[in-house]
Amino acid sequence: MNVLVLNAGSSSLKFQVIATDMDRIAKDGDERLSRGQVERIGGEAVVTMQNRGGPRLKSTAQLHDITAALRYVLGRLISDEGGAPVLKGPGDIHALGHRIVHGGEIFTQSSMITPQVLQQIEDCIDLAPLHNPNNLKGVAAGYEVFGKQIPQVAVFDTAFHTSLPEHAYLYAIPYHLYRRHGIRRYGFHGTSHRYVSYRYRKLRQLTREQTNVITLHLGNGCSAAAIRGGKSVETSMGMTPLEGLVMGTRAGDLDPAIVNVIANKEGLSLSQVEAMLNTQSGLLGLSGLTNDMRVLHEESAMHEDHRVRVAIEVFCYRARKYIGAFLAAMGGADALIFTGGIGENSPEIREQICAGLEWAGFRMDTGRNRALAGKEGAITADGSALAGYVIPTDEELLIARDTVRVILGEPHPS
Ligand code: ADP
Repeated sequence: MNVLVLNAGSSSLKFQVIATDMDRIAKDGDERLSRGQVERIGGEAVVTMQNRGGPRLKSTAQLHDITAALRYVLGRLISDEGGAPVLKGPGDIHALGHRIVHGGEIFTQSSMITPQVLQQIEDCIDLAPLHNPNNLKGVAAGYEVFGKQIPQVAVFDTAFHTSLPEHAYLYAIPYHLYRRHGIRRYGFHGTSHRYVSYRYRKLRQLTREQTNVITLHLGNGCSAAAIRGGKSVETSMGMTPLEGLVMGTRAGDLDPAIVNVIANKEGLSLSQVEAMLNTQSGLLGLSGLTNDMRVLHEESAMHEDHRVRVAIEVFCYRARKYIGAFLAAMGGADALIFTGGIGENSPEIREQICAGLEWAGFRMDTGRNRALAGKEGAITADGSALAGYVIPTDEELLIARDTVRVILGEPHPS
């Protein structure tokens, strides 16, 4: 089955075509036929595309909305520009799998999109006003381009964390706010946390029930999850993706009273402060330079810059603090798993986060750690009581596999 995986944003559309079925899932034999993205939708859009591991092809086109972008991508997959065509025609796409950011308390697992499910995703718009409407536009575009009969499946960022116990998801604010408005912690990056914990259990040949790990997704957005018995029992993001770890441009945890203080002192509206905490804070805000960890590494290598150093220190310290808290919250873990652009590619950050974790039985093997960039493997010494792993995430693969499982009515994990 060829699944077109879509992640529709406000002005972007990320896509992959993955050939998979139950047999391929069992043998890890899924095949990536194409991957790419359309950026700057609404004007002169830029399309990058890579077919079957070939060269990255770049093109531009006037694409006024997501439907136009999807139609264009399909055209490129069918044409033979830049090599053999990926598809013979639209009929070669058998299903669409969508990343949907917020599934609220309703969606505990991936679901076939029906009119009722569409309505329920719309009901979650209040919880993710920036994301869910764009995700829904991706679904509508799917029907327009592929016809009403195409099966479409929703895979939610929040679903994996619906196993959080009440004591972990409730904020200590008046209870009626939870009842009336759904104000509680939901958590995000669920597909990534679920995927790397699945890879870990394959690597160590464990059952889901035997999987007790802390996963650290460190990319532009960053979050940690405590996974006990294969289920998420705690995570660092909250009602929105702003809570928790320090991120590229997001502050993570802070005293909520600060919001009002900033508004008053800087003469900003509450929405402007919220935007500042989302887009001007984190590594960018502290360093005053960039949200890009690679650039921060380059700066530190060239000269001493206090703000760059402190930005990295706060980033790593916050992650270490969460590891300690999660070890207590989940009653100990067997492994820490690093993923995401920073987690996968920066041995320096992994070392800095784990420095001083020997009390928890963590014994970093520096040679192994430095040798691992973007590859799967252990970073701790053999026999380390708390093991460390790097596992590159692959949310698209999990979305494609869930799409197949949902369509075939196969029970799918967590
Ligand atoms: P997103 O959350 O948008 O998917 P990614 O997971 O791609 O983001 O992560 C982006 C981050 O990963 C950026 O801060 C980038 O600098 C960082 N990164 C990528 N490669 C490296 C590297 N070799 N060393 C350090 N940081 C890296």
